[in-house]
Amino acid sequence: LKLVFEVKEKDLLGRVGRVYIKGKRLDTPAFIPVISPYNQIIPPSEMKKRFRCNMVITNSYIIYRRFGEAGVEKGVHRIINFDGIVMTDSGGFQVLEYGDIDINPVEIAVYQERIGSDVAVPLDKPTGLTSRQEAEETVRVTLDNIAKTFNSLGDERRSCWTAPIQGGLYHDLLERCIKELLKYDFDLFSLGSPTPLMERYQYGKLVDMMFNARLHVPLDKPLHLFGAGHPMLFPFAVALGYDTFDSASYVLFAKADRYMLSSRTVKLENLAYLPCECSVCSLTTAEELRKLEKNERVKLLAMHNLSICFREVELIKQHIHEGRFFELLESRARAHPALMQAFSNIIRNDKIMQLMANHTPLTKPRGMYLFSAESLRRPEIRRGAERLEKVMSSSPTCFGMRRTAILIPHKLVITLKLEKLLQRLRKLENYGEAAVFTYYTPFGIVPLSLSRTYPFSQLSYPKSLIRDNLNQISRETLKKLRNLGFETVILIKSGGEPPSWFLEGLGEVLAKEFNVRAVEL
Ligand SMILES: [Zn+2]
Repeated sequence: LKLVFEVKEKDLLGRVGRVYIKGKRLDTPAFIPVISPYNQIIPPSEMKKRFRCNMVITNSYIIYRRFGEAGVEKGVHRIINFDGIVMTDSGGFQVLEYGDIDINPVEIAVYQERIGSDVAVPLDKPTGLTSRQEAEETVRVTLDNIAKTFNSLGDERRSCWTAPIQGGLYHDLLERCIKELLKYDFDLFSLGSPTPLMERYQYGKLVDMMFNARLHVPLDKPLHLFGAGHPMLFPFAVALGYDTFDSASYVLFAKADRYMLSSRTVKLENLAYLPCECSVCSLTTAEELRKLEKNERVKLLAMHNLSICFREVELIKQHIHEGRFFELLESRARAHPALMQAFSNIIRNDKIMQLMANHTPLTKPRGMYLFSAESLRRPEIRRGAERLEKVMSSSPTCFGMRRTAILIPHKLVITLKLEKLLQRLRKLENYGEAAVFTYYTPFGIVPLSLSRTYPFSQLSYPKSLIRDNLNQISRETLKKLRNLGFETVILIKSGGEPPSWFLEGLGEVLAKEFNVRAVEL
C-alpha cells in the first residue's frame, strides 16, 4: 500500500490522524505550503526544522519547463532540497491563470512519476466561478484527461495519485465528477476551485461546495482542499472533513505587505504593534519591519504568516483532542462577517449537522461550554435532545401514570447528594404520585434519571443563554409536560435558583394548562 490513513480522534467532521505516504508520515490535519521549485523565499528544509512541516506542494509544470530531463535525473526532492512528502501540481492552476499550457495530460503525468513525486495530480481544468456551460466543459476535460492519464500509466504507478474534484458551485456537476472519479483507483481526493470564492469572501457558498464534495467522497479517503488561502478558513475546512489544505498565501500576502492574523489580515502600513510571539515578531517591531528593504521584509513577513498558518492547525488539533472544536468555530465565527456566514450555513444545514452528530463521539471526557442559541445546535446537544425525546415518548407510562410533575432546579442535582435530595423531596405532599424532572436547563426539562448523565450534567453556560431563549424553553417544557398528561406542576425554588424572571416566565406559560405551584425547598 502506497498510502495508509489512520484516524485517531474525531470531532464534528474533523479528524486528527496520520497519513503514511510511501513510508513517510504526515500528521493531519495539515497545512501544506506551496513552494516554488526555485526561488524559495523560505526553504522547505527550514519549514521542516521550525514547524515540523513534513509535506509541501510544488508545480511539476514549472519544473518541466525549467529543468526538463535534468529534473528527472535530479528528482523533485533534490530540486527543492526536502526529504519530506512532496506533492506536485500538474499545472491546472496555470490553466486558470494564463489560459492553456503547452503540454498534454499524459506527458505531465509521466513526468510527475519520473521526477519521483510522492503525490501527483492529473492535469485538470479548474472550474472556478463560471457559467454552467463552461463548468460542464471543465468537468468533461478533467475526466477526459484522467482517462487518458490512467490508460497510459497502467497499474504500475509509482506515485500516489489524487483525484481533482471539479464542478464548483454546480452541485450536480460536482457530484457527477466525484462518481466518475470513484471508478479509478485514486489514493486521495482534492477539491478544486475554492480560491475565487475565498477572494470574494463568499464563504457561505464555499461551505456548501465543500460539504457537497465531502458528502460524496468516502470517509476512509483523505480529502484535500486546493488553494485554501487564509488560515481563517482552516477551522471550517477541517470541521467539514478536510484533512489537508495547501496555500501560497503566506508568501503572496508577504509580497503585498500583508500581515496575517488567524481571522484577518492587516496591511503593514496599518500595523502599529505585532500581536504575535513568533520568531519574527518577538525580535522586531512594526516600525522596524516597515523600514527593511523589500526582500528582507518579504522574508520576515512570509515567516510570520507561515507561523500563523501552522499555529492555527495546532490549535485545531488541540480543540479536537479536547472535544471542543465547535467552541473554536463559534469564537472564530465572531471574528469576521464572512466567517459568521460560513458558520451559519453549517449550523443551519440539517444534513451537515446530522452527519456531524453521527461522526462526533457519543460521550466526551469534558463538559461543554455553551454561549448562545447557536451553541444549542452543536451535535452533542442535538443528540442529547434526541435521546431525551426518545426516553420521554417511549416510556410515557413511567411518567404519565402520575398526575404531578415536580421540577427541581438542575443545579440541585449537581450540588446535592441524591440521597439528601430525595430526603427533601419526600417531604412534599404530592411526592408519592409525582414524577421528578430537573428544569432551568437549556433542554427545558430532563427526567431525574437522566439528569446526571452526559451531556445533561456537563454543561456550563451563562444565564443569558436561558434568558434569551426563555420563550422557546418554556414552550418546549409545556409541550413535554402536556404529552405526558400531568395535571399539577410543582416548581421548586432553592437557594435563589431559578431566578424569579425564569420562574415567572415559565410559570405564566405553564399556568395556561396546569395547576402550577411554586415551593421553596
Ligand atoms: Zn509573528
